[in-house]
Amino acid sequence: MTREVRLRFAPSPTGALHIGGVRTALYNYLFAKKMGGKFLLRIEDTDQNRFVPGAEEYIKESLEWLNISFDESPWNPGDSAPYRQSERKPMYMQYALDLIDRGHAYYAFDTSEELEAMRERLTAARVVQPQYNSITRTQMKNSLTLSEEEVAARLASGEPYVIRVKIPRKEEVRLHDMIRGWVMVHSSTLDDKVLMKSDGMPTYHLANIVDDHLMRITHVIRGEEWLPSAPLHVLLYKFFGWEETMPEFAHLPLLLKPDGNGKLSKRDGDKLGFPVFPLNWENKENGETAAGFREQGYLPDAFLNFLAFLGWNPGDDREIFSMSELIEAFSIERIGKSGTKFDIAKAKWFNEQYLRAMPNSELAVFLIADAAADGIVVSTEKAEALVELVKGRVTFPAELWAQSKFIVLPLSDFDQEIASKRWNQDAVNVLTSYADRISQFDGPFDGISAKTLLEATAESKEIKLGKVMQAVRLATTGSGVGPDLMEVFAILGTQELAKRIRFALATLSVID
Ligand code: GLU
Repeated sequence: MTREVRLRFAPSPTGALHIGGVRTALYNYLFAKKMGGKFLLRIEDTDQNRFVPGAEEYIKESLEWLNISFDESPWNPGDSAPYRQSERKPMYMQYALDLIDRGHAYYAFDTSEELEAMRERLTAARVVQPQYNSITRTQMKNSLTLSEEEVAARLASGEPYVIRVKIPRKEEVRLHDMIRGWVMVHSSTLDDKVLMKSDGMPTYHLANIVDDHLMRITHVIRGEEWLPSAPLHVLLYKFFGWEETMPEFAHLPLLLKPDGNGKLSKRDGDKLGFPVFPLNWENKENGETAAGFREQGYLPDAFLNFLAFLGWNPGDDREIFSMSELIEAFSIERIGKSGTKFDIAKAKWFNEQYLRAMPNSELAVFLIADAAADGIVVSTEKAEALVELVKGRVTFPAELWAQSKFIVLPLSDFDQEIASKRWNQDAVNVLTSYADRISQFDGPFDGISAKTLLEATAESKEIKLGKVMQAVRLATTGSGVGPDLMEVFAILGTQELAKRIRFALATLSVID
């Protein structure tokens, strides 16, 4: 019988979800959907010390923003409920006890002082990695070294204990990774990790394996930082007798800093001048807000497309993919083995492509809202014309209003540097005559008629238009740069245009 494909995203709510985590969620989602399977969200909140209020809501909101949806989650439970590990707490102990019965785990009673003493002893003996492992456990206080009666007495007395996995001394652990192929690790390099903590909470390793099994997970796609834990996970599947249904693993390569030097970390965002979080994140401890892609003006579909390409490519030169196209094209084989450099210029490029492909009517909504925030009412018709004018020049929706408001707001001042260089008698002559001609202009005034008229004016004055063009722009917009000037004239209309030119002629003086 073939099993239903089931994948999960299993974040720990320990702070804002980093974009690396969002990419992990996306790849899991794409693969699940591609295979016609299910995608689950499981909140791994067993580490109460690292729990951060608001982090779970942040994960939810981030993924909702990007349309990465779950078939089963804490808010939409299926038959694997509950989906928060803290709510599953009572079920883990039996699995730890089962491992003890099978001889693959043991009770350990060592105090923190005793553990520290062991580490010091090993460090003094120049052991590179002082660990609680198949060698050192023989000298510690645990159910492998103490008598059965003593263990029973200690347990009965309520003395705190942990349960550790008993890693075999000499065993080759083989693990297959869908991205890296076979990975071989010798068990002597692994330590006897704690599975059950003294507070009765399972550790990540135990809870993760038990839950993946109970939730019938078939594929685990996660960050490379979990690769060192994978041999232990493979052993746990074996110890439980769950090898038959062990999921397949794929460990995603790291996201690197733009210069390729090291991993892109949560702290990098503000230093490198771009966000590393999907949404703004308010750090309650220091009151600082870390920037989010959403608030910076990234469109969700563009950001998603960008993220998909951080480590994956379709094998040809196509770059623009909708979510359904990504699902169609996605494959684990096309995920690279080495780390991917984070390139913010590429993120901006995607945003520009998506923004330009949006209908003017949708973009106008942004412009109208931003204008309203400045106390200015812009009609839909005008907003669409402004959007059409500037959308090829902007990266973010907020720039639409910022770059076109000079057309709506009254012209009040002029770039003095441009004025000192470009304002001259030729410009005054052309503009004086142009203002008169447009005042008398009859008929539809569009970009073409504005241009024809301007050319005719310059010609009649025997002045080369190219020589006065920047002065014309300065007089009508106040600045030396901007979008297609003739289209600006068309939106301004003959009356406003003539008014601006006359204001400029009255304000600017020619310095010879
Ligand atoms: N809770 C782990 C994390 O925060 C999950 C790792 C895994 O997918 O196994 O990334």
